[in-house]
Amino acid sequence: MTTTTYGHLTWEDVRDADKDRVVILNVSATEDHGPHMPLDTDTVLGMAVATGVARAAPDEVFVMPPVPYGFNEHHKDFPGVIWIQPETLIAFVTDITKSLAHHGFRRILLLNSHGSNHPCLDLAARKTVIETGIICVSASYWNLMSARINEVRKSDIGGIAHAGEFEAAMYMHLHPDRVHIEKSTSQNLHNPDSKFFNLDLAGGGGGAMLMRWWSEVSPDGTMGDPTVADAETGKKFLDAAIEETTALIREIRALPILPRHDHH
Ligand SMILES: [Zn+2]
Repeated sequence: MTTTTYGHLTWEDVRDADKDRVVILNVSATEDHGPHMPLDTDTVLGMAVATGVARAAPDEVFVMPPVPYGFNEHHKDFPGVIWIQPETLIAFVTDITKSLAHHGFRRILLLNSHGSNHPCLDLAARKTVIETGIICVSASYWNLMSARINEVRKSDIGGIAHAGEFEAAMYMHLHPDRVHIEKSTSQNLHNPDSKFFNLDLAGGGGGAMLMRWWSEVSPDGTMGDPTVADAETGKKFLDAAIEETTALIREIRALPILPRHDHH
């Protein structure tokens, strides 16, 4: 098998493929990312991680075409947002995983690159396991690398949430011509006195979640501090994301397929 790109396979390639390769499905969003970044940010970054993993482990994965839409109706006060209902997203993704299981694939990673997809993909992975018996894992890629984000970040906690330092730096590394960092402003909305709320992607998460209408909390779609972003740090973020996701792939490949026991 000379390609890791699922769409480049023929049906005979799929028939003959190593079904213990991990099939990576990136699910992202099409939405506002401040005045400084494009609508496709989550797809560009998620697919950069997925294709980077494929370069690092070319015999161990296939990369599916991405799902470039997600659960983000709370963003729709900003022009350009395309939103999918959570029930639709879960059903759509589960149809993809069930198709893969039908063809014999046994190991799938739902690689999330848009925050609010996280609970939807968690449920889609659980439904896939229940309905097919294969291994299906979901992960938001920043959660695989929090410690490494914090090693290289320049912004304070609250600086990395949405269109902030993390995403801006990686997009600047990949396509500097599409990022207009001079239009960005710092909108660090984190309350350091809060015990339970924390939307920083590498801040350890909050114990409680409130997702407000985006236009209630952000004047231009940004949550974080893109003003300190630079391409060199973006390369470090992306390299770390690829390394940690590759490590996850190898753990998924090593997981045993276990038998069920009906104890009725
Ligand atoms: Zn984003």
